[in-house]
Amino acid sequence: MKSAVPRALRNARRIVPRASSTKSLSSSSSSSSFSRLGLGNNRSATTTLVSQHCNFSVTARLRDIDEDKDRKWSTPLAKQLAAAIELTGPIPLASFMRMCLTSDIGGYYTGAIEKDRDQFGLKGDFVTSPEISQVFGELIGVWFLTEWLAQGRQNKGVELIEVGPGRGTLMDDVLRTIQSFPAMANSIDAIYMVEASPELRMAQKNLLCGEDAPMTESKVGYHSVCKYNALPIVWTETIKSIPIASEKMPFIVAHEFFDALPIHAFELVSVPASKSEPPSEADKSSPSSKTSTPTLQWREMMVSPTPPGSTHESLNTPATQSRETPPPDFQLTRATSSTRHSLYLPDSSPRFRALKSTVGAGALLEVCPDASLYASDFAARIGGSPQHPKSKPSGAALILDYGPSDGTIPTNSLRGIRKHRRVSPFSEPGLTDLSVDVDFAGIAESATRASEGVEVHGPIAQGDFLELMGIKERAGVLAKRASQQKGEEAGKAVEKAWKRLIDRGPGGMGKVYQALAILPENDGKRRPVGFGGDVVN
Ligand code: SAH
Repeated sequence: MKSAVPRALRNARRIVPRASSTKSLSSSSSSSSFSRLGLGNNRSATTTLVSQHCNFSVTARLRDIDEDKDRKWSTPLAKQLAAAIELTGPIPLASFMRMCLTSDIGGYYTGAIEKDRDQFGLKGDFVTSPEISQVFGELIGVWFLTEWLAQGRQNKGVELIEVGPGRGTLMDDVLRTIQSFPAMANSIDAIYMVEASPELRMAQKNLLCGEDAPMTESKVGYHSVCKYNALPIVWTETIKSIPIASEKMPFIVAHEFFDALPIHAFELVSVPASKSEPPSEADKSSPSSKTSTPTLQWREMMVSPTPPGSTHESLNTPATQSRETPPPDFQLTRATSSTRHSLYLPDSSPRFRALKSTVGAGALLEVCPDASLYASDFAARIGGSPQHPKSKPSGAALILDYGPSDGTIPTNSLRGIRKHRRVSPFSEPGLTDLSVDVDFAGIAESATRASEGVEVHGPIAQGDFLELMGIKERAGVLAKRASQQKGEEAGKAVEKAWKRLIDRGPGGMGKVYQALAILPENDGKRRPVGFGGDVVN
């Protein structure tokens, strides 16, 4: 029996095989273990991050580097990062995350992990919903179908776009499902996959096009032909490379993609009037800047090396993180003065600005500029924008991930995951998966700000979304078929897998994972299926 834990989950769990499909028992490969989220008390598990990593001054860090030129770093990327920090001084958390996840000198998704291993499943680091049960991707295919029907069954110009497609399993399940509805299948012009990892891009090509299918390179990206309907598939490294055209109807899915985007982290500090720097635009309007009382200013959390010879004990690695990894090479330090980012990012949304009055000194804030860019891009493709006007908004985006559902801004949410365990996010850079809570309210704000032609529904809990989409009925058919064809155990495995996707308990994925939809603006009159609406045909 294999096992794996979703990224959102903290404790290693028993592995649940991906539900066998009637069509492809081979795709029932992996499925097991630890989600990136660390379910249960994820948030409390991370609250020590800032305080724990703020013990040392930046100058002391740099002195330590000088004193320890022969230091052994846990990975080649750690060495490169340390050398860069020695030259430039501590770097923003977002720069550290970007290097760790997608840099071409050994990022987690771009080549650091061993050749015969990927990030997913029992042998990997975590498991995701599409890898647990085929029903997940099938229901997303059905969701796209319901939107295509509701929006007037456009007979050409439909595009399927997935950002962060992993092994390609979700897109495979979506495409197989849509094949059963030829009118929609025939309306698809192209499939786009936004993928930073060359290895995963190849895995996706092998699954969706076949191992023998050639892949060619162009200025836009990489191209091959899909085994379903011989549709063209284009791989790009960012969504910006995918052309935007007003007659296109894009159906976009992002599953566990936004949690892998780099964040900037800030803390609000009270600065004595005599020491305060020239106030930012926002500070100028605050009465405190006109008096001698302290001002509140944002300070950015920066990454710098830990002192040479550090141990888990000396660094006080939290009990929620495994100590079986080497001691962290890096730690967070709070910048002593404003940085470029601390002057404008905390000012970029009314939700962030409100923290000065609602929380005051000590407030924490995470901002993900890449999430805003992606959300704005989705919205512009669906609803049009001043740069890309669209006469009639069309298409839909579905974002599934973990993060607060009540509009709360994520704080202290950075987590490291390795081999189905929570580890320090600063241990073994490049070998450790990093993920953060997704600011769904921020995504909604960015989308509606970018395009007047869209509206946002949700977030709602994944369990509710999947139940409204009919997971029970579909999975029931699959479980019955599996027990008839493969025996009772196979049927039970299918049952167990889909139930985990909707389980609202501490080990399940039904409550912590959320779904959010971006749709053409409709004055809120038509709710999408899965968010409380009915099928419109
Ligand atoms: N959606 C998949 C995989 C989630 S893991 C699933 O649920 O199983 C995150 C995925 O996003 C991987 O495919 C990773 O290579 C990709 N990715 C991470 N950061 C990226 C970035 N900045 N740009 C493009 N792709 C990225």
